[in-house]
Amino acid sequence: MTRKKLAAVRGMNDLLPAEAPVWEWLEARVADWVRSYGYQLIRTPLLEHTELFVRGIGEVTDIVEKEMYSFEDRLNGENLTLRPEFTAGTVRAAVEHNLTYEGPRRVWSMGPVFRHERPQRGRYRQFHQVNVEALGFAGPDIDAEHIVMLARLWKILGVGPVRLEINCLGQADERARHRAELITYFESHRDALDEDAQRRLHTNPLRILDTKNPALAEVVAQAPKITGYLGDGSRAHFEGLQRLLEASGISFTVNPRLVRGLDYYNLTVFEWITDALGAQGTICGGGRYDPLVERMGGRASPSCGYAFGMERVVELLKESATVDMTTSTDVYVAHQGGATAAQAFRVAEQLRDAGLDAVYHAGEGSLKSQMKKADASGAEYAVIVGEAELGNGAVALKALRGPAGAAGGGEQRIVPLERLADELVDALTRSEQQS
Ligand code: ATP
Ligand code: MG
Repeated sequence: MTRKKLAAVRGMNDLLPAEAPVWEWLEARVADWVRSYGYQLIRTPLLEHTELFVRGIGEVTDIVEKEMYSFEDRLNGENLTLRPEFTAGTVRAAVEHNLTYEGPRRVWSMGPVFRHERPQRGRYRQFHQVNVEALGFAGPDIDAEHIVMLARLWKILGVGPVRLEINCLGQADERARHRAELITYFESHRDALDEDAQRRLHTNPLRILDTKNPALAEVVAQAPKITGYLGDGSRAHFEGLQRLLEASGISFTVNPRLVRGLDYYNLTVFEWITDALGAQGTICGGGRYDPLVERMGGRASPSCGYAFGMERVVELLKESATVDMTTSTDVYVAHQGGATAAQAFRVAEQLRDAGLDAVYHAGEGSLKSQMKKADASGAEYAVIVGEAELGNGAVALKALRGPAGAAGGGEQRIVPLERLADELVDALTRSEQQS
């Protein structure tokens, strides 16, 4: 009987070992980088009540209209949704646990998010984001901090060039006046609109500005810009941000049509875009969402944040060759079976006690095939626990890399068991200093 093979859900990727080094490298750089700006880790559940996202993201957004994985829990009838983004859950947790009670908070998260979109390069149904939020800060200094820290990250990662676009969406009343003018304008150009835009005309006309349909480029270019509706406060905030960016040597362009997909943004919005990824070139988006905390039942706390897509950044990293993709370990422990296998097993543990990375040869195999595996493991050294040496309380130590160990034909010497860990630590420290 042949069984049907099982496959992953469409648009949801496995991370296989061959690609793992670039993810591990990125995750480690990110953890150091957020810490260097004083952001603390927060982890919220993958599942939240559907209502959270409807309230937090807004009903007339792509995400809530058509991208959420929502279902009813058969066991208790609750309506749940796999998180499509981090902000709503982060704010929910902050309100629920009074996080901003003692003052503003800088927090960050990293992990999978789920959106039911059409899978293509750079667009998946499960993907990963790094998400950063500053809760309770009025800005514009913190808005600038977010942009400046991202510029630093692109440098740390060696991805580039990444260009920055910013805009100011003003406050609710300013947006309302702009919105009314937009509707009037688009109504008078109704014939030029596509189906999506017609549908959005009265629900979320701002989103028409964000269209990816080139046929709408002309009518969108002529549309009234939010810039003309900004009051003094909004303008001062936007100018303050731009002055801080200029003082930090960050180049940017003001794009008056940049609106972002989510409902809750006000004042600052920004996106980082690369030309290296084709249509899915936006690697990071963010901005200010002053009304959200109150909308989620908390005390009014002006806040801002951003998220970047890790798959898209990984794609850039793979092209940039910054990351060493080879697997490696310090030492591979080989043996001749029987009592030498049991001894090798203990030796491997002793080496790990000494702080080394050690791979034990599990199972049997000729010495030749074990040496091949040792080489493939990326180990610097092989320890061979052989019957003859073991009788004298010793093992063979073989260098696998470097001038001496090239092509696996490296120098081999006999080392007493009790000195093995020390010798290996010394040898590895020396070769690290040389490289
Ligand atoms: P897009 O316009 O590409 O759909 P978005 O505005 O929906 O992006 P955000 O909600 O701002 O994206 O998410 C932040 C980042 O997450 C994006 O800039 C992108 O890098 C990444 N991202 C968004 N959707 C996906 C997806 N389906 N697959 C992979 N990465 C994604
Ligand atoms: Mg989207």
